[in-house]
Amino acid sequence: MSPPVLDPFGRAITYLRISVTDRCDLRCVYCMAEEMTFLPKRDLLSLEELERLAAAFMRLGTRKLRLTGGEPLVRRDVIRLIERLGARIGTPDGLDELTLTTNGTQLARFAAGLKAAGMRRINVSLDTLDPARFTHMTRWGKIGPTLEGIAAAKAAGLAVKINTVAMKGVNEDEFDALIAWCGQEGFDLCLIETMPMGEISEDRTAQYLPLSLVRARLRRRWTLEDTDYRTGGPARYATVRETGRRIGFITPMTHNFCESCNRVRLTCTGTLYMCLGQDDQADLRAVLRGGADDAALDAAIRAAIARKPKGHDFVIDRRHAAPSVGRHMSLTGG
Ligand code: SAM
Ligand code: SF4
Repeated sequence: MSPPVLDPFGRAITYLRISVTDRCDLRCVYCMAEEMTFLPKRDLLSLEELERLAAAFMRLGTRKLRLTGGEPLVRRDVIRLIERLGARIGTPDGLDELTLTTNGTQLARFAAGLKAAGMRRINVSLDTLDPARFTHMTRWGKIGPTLEGIAAAKAAGLAVKINTVAMKGVNEDEFDALIAWCGQEGFDLCLIETMPMGEISEDRTAQYLPLSLVRARLRRRWTLEDTDYRTGGPARYATVRETGRRIGFITPMTHNFCESCNRVRLTCTGTLYMCLGQDDQADLRAVLRGGADDAALDAAIRAAIARKPKGHDFVIDRRHAAPSVGRHMSLTGG
């Protein structure tokens, strides 16, 4: 097994997230503007190019790979890529884990295939259990397909973690219900603070809800026991004693989670971002399409990781409500 590449701060980069498409069948209010211009298809890496880049990262010590988007399951033939990557699980210079973040709308079709490809757990984004609120938060989605998708994932034997973006005045009255529902279903839950990424039509400062406040409120009803459990991601977990399930908190705004960062992000056009909250990038598509052999590709990735910054500096700009980072989350993936 190759020793992992280290960044300038000695952090081993073992986790790659790939956004396989910037397109999505929903328009979540915190993520996208209502009118989005998507990338022309020719700019996208082919599935073969994505696989080649993933293999290069594996040679350099990546052991965990998450596919995201946009909505990864709307990319045509994405299951072919998933199967090819799944075949690398448990191999030397391969993966310990392959996973996915999805809005669940297509999961009923794909759940069994994901399991067969070697996935063990997936994250499904669900901000509310209320059908009308779901439609409001996604601008036009219907909750039915997502709930059916989640049920299909459970039936296929995939462990499900529900990701919920906490929004002030929108779904903050529902966290108790979500904890109870996840408890019944046997799912972990992860609450996420909104991050100021991309123009989204609404005022971000109005949406932002600090999870420190949420946590204090949850303690009125639930017994939260801190744990050391980590999944390789940025969440800090507690166990909800009453349900026995875990609840995670991702708090980029109130708590700087950068010190243990082990990941980089690749977009569907082959741009590598070394940090979710910074603009520095490396154009790996140019390297790939310039005819680079494996050694040259590896060198380009090493050079990019050598520039990984210490951390993000997201701020909620109260006067201008401007995003800290211009690109949308759907480009880099969550
Ligand atoms: N479409 C898939 C989904 O919704 O799960 C994968 C991509 S989505 C960009 C990944 C995660 O990012 C989702 O859990 C979503 O809720 C979260 N997200 C999107 N925009 C965000 C923002 N501005 N702040 C915090 N989380 C955000
Ligand atoms: Fe689509 Fe996911 Fe963004 Fe919602 S959060 S608009 S489902 S990419």
